[in-house]
Amino acid sequence: MTNTFPATLHNRTDKTQRAVTVRITSGTLHITAETEAWRWSRTDLTSARLVDDGSVILQNGSWFLDVPDPRFAPALEAGFGGKKLFRRSFFDKIGVSGCLLAFVLVVLPLLAAYFWLAPYIAEQAVGNVSPETEKQIGEAWFRSLTEAYTVDTVRTRQVQQFCDSLHFGGDYDLRITVVNEPVVNAFALPGGHIVVFDSILAIMDAPEQLAGLLAHEAAHVQLRHSTRAVFQELARNLFFTLLLGDDGSLSGIVARQSDKLLGLSYSRRLEMEADAHGLRLLERSGIPRRGMPDLFRKMGAATGDSSGIPSFLSTHPAIEERIQSAENERTNDIARDTVPAVLQRIWAELKKRTH
Ligand SMILES: [Zn+2]
Repeated sequence: MTNTFPATLHNRTDKTQRAVTVRITSGTLHITAETEAWRWSRTDLTSARLVDDGSVILQNGSWFLDVPDPRFAPALEAGFGGKKLFRRSFFDKIGVSGCLLAFVLVVLPLLAAYFWLAPYIAEQAVGNVSPETEKQIGEAWFRSLTEAYTVDTVRTRQVQQFCDSLHFGGDYDLRITVVNEPVVNAFALPGGHIVVFDSILAIMDAPEQLAGLLAHEAAHVQLRHSTRAVFQELARNLFFTLLLGDDGSLSGIVARQSDKLLGLSYSRRLEMEADAHGLRLLERSGIPRRGMPDLFRKMGAATGDSSGIPSFLSTHPAIEERIQSAENERTNDIARDTVPAVLQRIWAELKKRTH
């Protein structure tokens, strides 16, 4: 089958152009002008380009043949033995299925790496971190954080005594720091530092509530929640640094993290886990467990339970749910109605100063 197409032949050297017709026979392109004729074979072609509008531009040295008819391209390929002649744009080449394939092969693994692999590696890393390393991380963090706070040394000593008298045990020495802050909050750092804002002491009206708070924070420490959160942050940041070639050094990333810790919130699952473990610690220490739900209730009242919730409670096991869950635990509470005398005594001293 042969076909004839109108075309324009340009010459780049002498800047001329002429109207021609193009006819394809097997393996040969016959180009005919009014008074001249050319024969191009496939090997003569320097380049072949398919333009978006379907027209074709063929180059043979300094000659350019412009064929506007979109039927020419398939006819030419057929005439040249079905060979693919044309360089196409990237998208033409890969097509929609290619795009999907690229998505599956490139984007999905990156997403998986970010959402699964980075946390997984972080989780593995946490498993291998010794309590000593956790203490070092927590210590560095603690130093950079507490610069911003005013430490209440007297109450720090009292709450530390209170905490020591609870005898929670575990691999970590719990080191309490009470700071003057208007927000009702408390948080635990890797390795055993627990920072208590004095405003949360102010809303308590029974020693078992302080015990409940310390048990919850001690649970975060013992279950390595903050260490995990830190490693997850680091892994995600590191992932982006590697991916985007961010020029931030590792130490820079670590330094930037220190501000972030306050904003770190635990998942609902981790908070519930800390509540449950905290209740067990109270039980083991012979402290009435009602302190924990009582404290949640007071915090809910103090914060309105919706906006401005401190990070202690921010993560959303809604306060009500946590109260409920702690209350359920409490039904097994076998008549432990009072806290030991030593705790009562420290509590009384602590409250003397609060008001
Ligand atoms: Zn918590």
